[in-house]
Amino acid sequence: MEPQLPLCRKCGYDLTGLNDVGRCPECGNPFNSKSGKGMRSSDKEDMYYADRIFRRARTLSLVGFAALVLACGGWVQWLVQGGRAFGVAVAVGLLFLLAALTSFVYEKE
Ligand SMILES: [Zn+2]
Repeated sequence: MEPQLPLCRKCGYDLTGLNDVGRCPECGNPFNSKSGKGMRSSDKEDMYYADRIFRRARTLSLVGFAALVLACGGWVQWLVQGGRAFGVAVAVGLLFLLAALTSFVYEKE
């Protein structure tokens, strides 16, 4: 679980390390971190959640493409009984898998 960042609702200033109740040093917006008043950590969490879903979808579709390319390459190779279709498919599939791996790593951030 990512730690929630308490941000000023008005200007988005990071209120970490300040008193539970006070005013934003940036814009003077009153906040209460106990009740969440004047803060927008929940908004940020919604955005974060949507972003995570998008990243997960990107990773999964890249893995899906890799599998599709491998399957097509294997099928073509089987059809023509020779050639380098599967070899090319493996190379392209590996590229997609690499991209998926990169995407997966960045998913955590
Ligand atoms: Zn502010």
